[in-house]
Amino acid sequence: MTAIPPDINFKKELKKISKSSLNECMQCGTCSVVCSLAPEEKPFPRKEMFWASWGQKEKLIANADVWLCHQCGDCSTHCPRGVKPADVLSAIRQMSYKNYARPKFFGSLLAKPALLPIAILIPVIIIVVILLMAGTFTIPEGPVNYSRFFPHAWLNGSFTLITFVIYGLAASGILRFRKDLQSNFQGLKAKTGFFKSLLQVKNEILLHSKFGNCTTQKSRKIAHFLVFYGFIILLLVTAYAIIAAITHNYPLGLTNPFKMLGNAAALMLTLGLGIMIFNRLFKKDKTGKSNYADWLLLISFFLLTISGIVVQLARLQNWGPAYHLYFFHLVCVWFVIIYLPYTKFAHMIYRILALSFAHSIGRDSPD
Ligand code: SF4
Ligand code: SF4
Repeated sequence: MTAIPPDINFKKELKKISKSSLNECMQCGTCSVVCSLAPEEKPFPRKEMFWASWGQKEKLIANADVWLCHQCGDCSTHCPRGVKPADVLSAIRQMSYKNYARPKFFGSLLAKPALLPIAILIPVIIIVVILLMAGTFTIPEGPVNYSRFFPHAWLNGSFTLITFVIYGLAASGILRFRKDLQSNFQGLKAKTGFFKSLLQVKNEILLHSKFGNCTTQKSRKIAHFLVFYGFIILLLVTAYAIIAAITHNYPLGLTNPFKMLGNAAALMLTLGLGIMIFNRLFKKDKTGKSNYADWLLLISFFLLTISGIVVQLARLQNWGPAYHLYFFHLVCVWFVIIYLPYTKFAHMIYRILALSFAHSIGRDSPD
């Protein structure tokens, strides 16, 4: 067996993000025993704690097991050394999607607080340039009508194009992650193909079935459920709105079923995100330590949701600063949707890939 030299920089960054003292771990294994999601064979997170203390970047960065963890915090609660393995696994997940981010620039841009002003400025500049090209970069007179400020064809066309280009670039990194998952588990052969495995883990993804196994943070399942489905419903409603805009049936009336569905989704998101923010602020002993990536996702998504509700009210009530609020909302939309592969939101993609891969090699968490 070849010894892999420790990556000291990786270890330093892991310590910084997880805010955990990795060397305090005495390898007692309590964390793996209390974890209700760890498989019986080679359970996590004890082995990950060992690799972390030895700076074994390659073993951790493309490790399906860290994605089987739902950060319930049970292991941290019971760790006799107060090491917080749940926070360590969470930090490894963040370092994983940053490592596979393509172009790499976006990964760094969204990972460093000092670069946040640039991350915000990029969408601001691009939106202004598109408005200048459309010739509508002025506040229109008369009743509020957002399409006179940002014509639908320009809005839908430019955002769809930019999203596809960025997601296309990000896909190369995500595919490399899947390839590395396979090389990290060379001893185990896939028993089922990717799409079949994906279908087999659909309940876990759609029903959040494994979340219910956690005992330390019960409310996490409800909050994730609300955010997950609120987001999916909003995506579907947005797709319908784009079609409606093309067929000149826009904006949708308040009693339109899709509009009502969209507003219900906004409420689900507000509630789900509100629970998450509350838990991170006031239940720190259970949620673990929150870091920049946690707050960036929660705050940007919360601002997107709230600004969407306010922008609707502003249109209905003809508020003076309606177009300024709309501009702010568009920047929030960009931040959450177009930067998705580079923020904690990327969990959605990486976790689904890792879950289906783990299933394909027979490495499932217990039910
Ligand atoms: S992280 Fe804590 S519980 Fe887990 S092996 Fe180390 S000391 Fe034991
Ligand atoms: S946070 Fe929960 S799911 Fe993750 S390793 Fe610890 S006990 Fe297991």
